[in-house]
Amino acid sequence: MDRRKFLAGAGIGVLAAASPISLSAIENLVQPKPRKSGRLNLSFFPYELKLRHAWNLARNSRTTTPDVQVQLEYDGIVGYGEASMPPYLGETTESVMNFLSSLDLTQFNDPFKMEDILAYVDNVAPNNRAAKASVDIALHDLVGKIMGQPWYKIWGYSAEKTPNTSFTIGIDTADVVRKKVEEARPYKVIKVKMGLDNDKQTVDIIKEMMPDVPICCDANQGWSSKEYALEMCHWLKERNCLFVEQPFDKTWVDETAWLTERSPLPIIADEAFQRLPDIVKFKGVYSGINIKLMKSTGLYEAHKMVTLAKSLGMKVMVGCMTETSCAVTAAANLSPVVDFCDLDGNLLIANDRFSGMTVENGKVTLHDIPGIGVKLL
Ligand code: MG
Repeated sequence: MDRRKFLAGAGIGVLAAASPISLSAIENLVQPKPRKSGRLNLSFFPYELKLRHAWNLARNSRTTTPDVQVQLEYDGIVGYGEASMPPYLGETTESVMNFLSSLDLTQFNDPFKMEDILAYVDNVAPNNRAAKASVDIALHDLVGKIMGQPWYKIWGYSAEKTPNTSFTIGIDTADVVRKKVEEARPYKVIKVKMGLDNDKQTVDIIKEMMPDVPICCDANQGWSSKEYALEMCHWLKERNCLFVEQPFDKTWVDETAWLTERSPLPIIADEAFQRLPDIVKFKGVYSGINIKLMKSTGLYEAHKMVTLAKSLGMKVMVGCMTETSCAVTAAANLSPVVDFCDLDGNLLIANDRFSGMTVENGKVTLHDIPGIGVKLL
């Protein structure tokens, strides 16, 4: 129908005839405002994350994490993103800056074409997962802000269903472990890093100080015997452990499948698992997956991973690297639909740039902030 006839038929034309307001002004009132035909402008800078405590894992130790902060601007609205590069991922500040410099996002004038934009970013070069994640997170933040809604709401998730997040205690001496357990008192789940000789001692200290709190264990590829791993799984089961993460080297597929078949605890893939196609590959090898945005290239693929893994009957965990509240909060938008949550990376750094999701009484708490849900401090 002709638009002017429709307006007249709806009675608006009568109103126009009787008032000094022009018909075109009324049409402007009833039409959605067209978006300005702006361009996507990407900017970024390096930002070294300072860790509150030295971070000791089975295979390395460090006090800082390289990071790149990203902004994506469109018609005056700014979306924030981040790439965090723990050394085992193989990316560096230089590689991320080079990758981001190679992108030309000004060719896109509609941020809602996320599929096209992210496919372009993914196809520029292989790997570079954290660099790609930084653009993806900034794009989600931008689009959510334009829509005026946080992503957990856009996906239809209930903020009330967020799980407790675990708080991670690294490998350390008994005295330092005791100090860290004190810090962990507000949390309802403790994640303990394993893979050295003192695994049982660390768990004993935690259980002595917080006997009722469930634990989960991350060996970070540190175990090197199937039999030892199976014995540990039984020992941990008796101590209210929820799951074991990445027991063996990521290349040990047959050994992991052997353990998963026999273990009384779910075995979760972390270092072995990166992107969406890995899920089908690891069905039957691991009981579940640990999704992290710096591995998945961001939220777009992570959201698909949750759906696919759950449809295959696998457990889903959402985790993070040491990151600011930017990437941690972005990941928290997925938390209402996952089995386990390990989103404490922002609490491990001393120079956060953002406020975002909070942990209240141990539980991930999402706020009604459009986009990924962060504010610059
Ligand atoms: Mg892990």
